[in-house]
Amino acid sequence: MLEMLAEKRLQYGRPVIIDATNTRGKIRQRWLDLAEKHTVPILAMRFDVPIDVCKARQDERARKVPEYVIERQFKALENIEHQLLNEPWHGIFVHDGQKTRALRPWSMPKRHEIDDHGHRYLHTHIDFVGDVHGCMDELEQLLAKMGWEAEDNGLWQHPEDRLLVFVGDLVDRGPKSVPVVQFVAQMVKAERAALVMGNHDDKFKRYLLGNGVNLDSAIQTTIEECEAMSPEDKDDFVDQALELFINAPLWAAFAPATSDRFGLSAHVIVAHAAWTPSLVGQKRDRVRFYCLYGPNTGEKDASGYPERLDWRMDYPEDAPLCVTGHTPFAGQPRKHHNTLCIDTGCVFGHRLTAWRFPEDEIVSVDAIECYSDHKKLLEYPDLLPMDVYRKRKAERQKGS
Ligand code: MN
Repeated sequence: MLEMLAEKRLQYGRPVIIDATNTRGKIRQRWLDLAEKHTVPILAMRFDVPIDVCKARQDERARKVPEYVIERQFKALENIEHQLLNEPWHGIFVHDGQKTRALRPWSMPKRHEIDDHGHRYLHTHIDFVGDVHGCMDELEQLLAKMGWEAEDNGLWQHPEDRLLVFVGDLVDRGPKSVPVVQFVAQMVKAERAALVMGNHDDKFKRYLLGNGVNLDSAIQTTIEECEAMSPEDKDDFVDQALELFINAPLWAAFAPATSDRFGLSAHVIVAHAAWTPSLVGQKRDRVRFYCLYGPNTGEKDASGYPERLDWRMDYPEDAPLCVTGHTPFAGQPRKHHNTLCIDTGCVFGHRLTAWRFPEDEIVSVDAIECYSDHKKLLEYPDLLPMDVYRKRKAERQKGS
């Protein structure tokens, strides 16, 4: 029963505490095997209690075991610390009623993988930044406005030890895509920032890898910056950019919550264009398309932009808040069906925006200039409702 319950909890991504004597190596091995099967860390905690305390405590209990059982258990534990050290526990701790000491120290990693495409970050204070698109000067202004401080080495830090999270689209259209990538790469390496991929980052990555991409005017700005570098600088930059983009997830979960029905244990989810809980564990192509572009009709609207479908209407209300970028708009960011878009079109001459967790606060700076034209920047993203699209499709089928 215990094993079944432990396994069930692990399947839902929940922690498991097994409070049992576990005196025999064979039994401990079953827990070690179970942890390995679910690729979770497993720690051993030994309670080092004198035998007279154990006997006195048992006297207070309604259900007693014969005294020789306690003595036998004690005998089995004589050599326990040595035995534990010979077993593959991630961490081993001993508690003597007063203090805990580490036989094998272990601390929770700040980041781990949920599946092949999504990472989880355990930070509790986070600043989420919308599409930067090469607007390095505005990014620095925004960081300063939120209390981040520049160090001498090019890194920035926050006195509250906050994590900086980019919703993707670091490059293209703006004047300083290369410095933005260099900055974010350095910050991610120092574990002060995280990036989820945007469609422009993904396209630039494919270009750097030598894949054929459509060299439109947006990516040309970034390519021109690269061409202006010396060959050595350019080589270093390409390595740095590829390392950043190849390791960046398509989506990420932030700030642990006790639980939710999707097993995500997060307060916030971030993806560039769109996200839905059913993407967890899905094949790469589907996750990639949904996160980078969001669902669309495959057709162009009157201004020539891809016609985007309103995935937000179907986003579950009890899933963690979903923060995105991708669809620029000119008005104030506001939550909509438990989603929040923070792309306020800086590169199109509007604002660069951050949303702060847990404060639930919007901070923006104005664009210094308009770096690129946008034919239809609305007050708020106006996506095509799914049911309107379905009706249109059904009518067309009837018509044909
Ligand atoms: Mn964008």
